[in-house]
Amino acid sequence: MSRRTSSVALQALYPGTFDPFTRGHEDIVHRSARLFDRVIVAVAASEHKGPFFSLDERVAMGKMLFAGIENVEVVGFSCLLIEFAKMQGTHVLLRGLRAASDFEYEFQLAGMNRQLWPEMEAIFLTPADQYMFISASMVREIARFGGDVSRFVDPRVAEQLRQRLAQKKLEQMASSANGRG
Ligand code: ADP
Repeated sequence: MSRRTSSVALQALYPGTFDPFTRGHEDIVHRSARLFDRVIVAVAASEHKGPFFSLDERVAMGKMLFAGIENVEVVGFSCLLIEFAKMQGTHVLLRGLRAASDFEYEFQLAGMNRQLWPEMEAIFLTPADQYMFISASMVREIARFGGDVSRFVDPRVAEQLRQRLAQKKLEQMASSANGRG
C-alpha cells in the first residue's frame, strides 16, 4: 500500500559509508521506510577513507540486513553524491543526526549540495535514544581490541567483523614472517 495518496512516489536516498552498518543506521532505514515509498540506501565507495570492508561487502551487508523491507534498495556508488541522486531520480537526501556535534557538518554538507543542485532537499531523522551514541568508527575500534559489539550491530555484522579481524591478523603475521625472511 502506498504511504501517500498522491500518485507521485516519494523517494529518498540515504547515503553513507556504512563501514559497517550499525544499529543506528538500521534504525534510520526502518524509520524512513515508513515515511517514503522508496528508500535507496546508497553505499559510498569512500576509497579515501581506506574502508575496513570493501564496497561490495558493504552493499551485500546492507542487502542482507534490509532483505525483508520491500521498499528499501541497497546500491553502491563512487561518483559525486548529487549526480548519483539525479541518476536514481530522487532529490531527497536523507541523513541521520545523532547529536548536536553532527549538526555542523551535516548543515555544511546540505548547503554545499544545494549550491550544486538547488532542487535538492535534505531531510534529517534522529534514531531511538539507545542508538544515539553509536558510530561505525567506534564499533570498528572496539572490535579491533576484542570488545563486545553485540549491542551496536546485528549479530551477522558482528560475525563479519570477527572474521575480517582474524583474517587481517593472519595477513599481518604472514607479512612479518616474510619480512624476517
Ligand atoms: P559514520 O561513520 O559516522 O557512521 P556514515 O557515513 O556511515 O558515518 O553514516 C551515514 C549517515 O548515517 C550519516 O548521516 C550519519 O550521521 C548517520 N548515522 C551514523 N550513525 C548513526 C546513528 N547511530 N544514529 C543515527 N544516524 C547515524
